[in-house]
Amino acid sequence: MNTIYLDNNATTRIAPEVIEEMLPYLKEFYGNPSSMHTFGGQLYKKIEEARERTAELLRAEPEEIIFASCGTESDNTAIMSAVESFPNKRHIITTRVEHPAVRNFCKHLARKGFRITFLSVNNHGQLDINDLLKAIEGDTLLVTIMYANNEVGNIFPLEEISEILKERRILFHTDAVQAVGKIPVDLKKLPVDMLSLSGHKLHAPKGVGALYVRKGTRFYPYIIGGHQEKGRRAGTENVASIIGLGKACELARNNLDEEIVYLKRLRDKLETSLLKLCTDVRINGDVNSRLPNTTSLSFEYVEGEAILLRLNEYGICASSGSACSSGSLEPSHVLRAMGVPFTAIHGSIRFSLSRYNTEEEIDKVIEIIPGIIKELRLLSPFGRDKLSRKVK
Ligand code: PLP
Repeated sequence: MNTIYLDNNATTRIAPEVIEEMLPYLKEFYGNPSSMHTFGGQLYKKIEEARERTAELLRAEPEEIIFASCGTESDNTAIMSAVESFPNKRHIITTRVEHPAVRNFCKHLARKGFRITFLSVNNHGQLDINDLLKAIEGDTLLVTIMYANNEVGNIFPLEEISEILKERRILFHTDAVQAVGKIPVDLKKLPVDMLSLSGHKLHAPKGVGALYVRKGTRFYPYIIGGHQEKGRRAGTENVASIIGLGKACELARNNLDEEIVYLKRLRDKLETSLLKLCTDVRINGDVNSRLPNTTSLSFEYVEGEAILLRLNEYGICASSGSACSSGSLEPSHVLRAMGVPFTAIHGSIRFSLSRYNTEEEIDKVIEIIPGIIKELRLLSPFGRDKLSRKVK
């Protein structure tokens, strides 16, 4: 059975071109880039080439890129750097729909005495800029708002936000882990101070990420030790993965325009077909400002996990709107913040596509899902009741 992988916001397949580029640095060239000898020292150049490729994708300068181990580390580093830069300030603004890499780090800081404002979103997951303006205080040290949401794909109005913050000289960090490689990110136009990205979301390996820090922004390292990354992030570099990230950024940059059109077409086909073929389905999020590869659908009167298990039997991979933590199914904090009804949260499924998905795969999924939903609704007392009332 072939796998149909529609869970690309969770992680992506490593591009074959990326693997090719990495292999020599896993096999022959295993030196330490900090070594004096040529065998190790030559790797320094390859790291700098990867830095240039990463910067080019973001329209940034190479010296503004710091390699890290993942998106989470980049997010934690950005927030901690802001905290260290303004020791007399105690207030941070973020949103209620951030990834745990930001959300839980902010909660951690709240326990240490920082005041955190979690901005609300409306039913479509949109922020009200007036709420941000009202939340700003005299000692606000940082605003951290994601570029694009991992669950529903919403893209936030960062240009508008950064103008407001620039005027007030408040640091602005964005978690762009889901945006980089999927939509154009132009840091010449967008005046954010810091931006996080993660390799495994754009067809590079897991275990590598980067933090962009705009020239002139105060910066304090989070991981302290050796002199790597010009003292901004200690630890012997993950050379092969950094090279892989550079290659993945180059691929993304060369193919972005075509991929956006391709992914949007497949995503829209999947979405409109399922809305037509299934009853009681709703789209979660902002259909006018979303990632081209993502759709979050709520199928009423069925459990998302039951849908996932049935899809799994066909080799189809997707995600549900609940997170399994300590044995219980926690409804998604993103969908809760958007006021999605409880029953709809439990029946929500996220499909996230990549350049490797084909039209045939999407057709197969469209063929299979309506039957699964009907079958599961007949099994659930609530769904059965609803179906019989509809028949009458
Ligand atoms: N931020 C967002 C929006 C994400 O979607 C993720 C991963 O799902 C992360 C941060 C964390 O990235 P990483 O898995 O590289 O730590």
